[in-house]
Amino acid sequence: MAVVDPVPDVAGALKWARTHIVLAEARILLRYVLQCPASRLIAFPEAVLGVAEWAEFRSLVERREAGEPIAYLTGEREFFGRSFHITPAVLIPRPDTELLVELAMAHFGDKRGTRVLDLGTGSGILAITLMLDLIEADVTAVDRSREALLVAMANAARLGASVSFVLGDWFSALGEERYHLIVANPPYVAAADPHLEEGDVRFEPATALASGPQGLDDLAAIVSGAPAHLEPGGWLFLEHGYDQAAAVRGLLTDAGFSAIASWKDLAGIERVSGGQWLGR
Ligand code: GLN
Repeated sequence: MAVVDPVPDVAGALKWARTHIVLAEARILLRYVLQCPASRLIAFPEAVLGVAEWAEFRSLVERREAGEPIAYLTGEREFFGRSFHITPAVLIPRPDTELLVELAMAHFGDKRGTRVLDLGTGSGILAITLMLDLIEADVTAVDRSREALLVAMANAARLGASVSFVLGDWFSALGEERYHLIVANPPYVAAADPHLEEGDVRFEPATALASGPQGLDDLAAIVSGAPAHLEPGGWLFLEHGYDQAAAVRGLLTDAGFSAIASWKDLAGIERVSGGQWLGR
């Protein structure tokens, strides 16, 4: 006769999970399975799981132990105070990218009707956040991945942001349109960077991460295409790698931008560079 493991209570489930993954992550996964706030795990450690809940929790813990990112297991991640739906078709939002929102707000937060373009929108975090936080903004979001656009559209619907979504490669589907603000968090990791073989990054779409031998191919394509799509006085802000600030400032200089600068992320690393297009 098969021996059936008893279904544990909350405390027992967490105790088992701790032998496989770190406790903080086990708590996130158990909250996800039970669809409950953290306080319930603490207040009711003796609550017995349902059979299906225990099976689901065990499977998630095993997948996490095998390396799958928490955000793909729970299907969500917070960005700038809002919860976004996430799938393996899109990059997992990183706190570093909030710097792009802060810069956009610093330059356009007091203006109405800003026309914004987000290139390589992925899950839509930048486009949707700016649509919701800028006053009467008109936001277009581009991605060359159909699967990514479907995720972004689902996020826009769930957060109530009427962003225009466009399938295309950088500027190629935008005609002659011009914008006051262009933002992008493009792929910028060097193709041979060993970082691509480590941790959560292994599970993310390579097309959202790698960009040529030095990671600069897409950054260069965006900088060179941006002048034809910026209003005079408009701004371009680009996220880039920890060691790419000088190279990106060089690209901006060569393309004829003014007021070129780089800004530091929470770790004190130059993470965004940008400039103003004064027209020609
Ligand atoms: N910051 C990410 C990483 O280092 C890369 C994001 C990107 O390429 N846009 O994993």
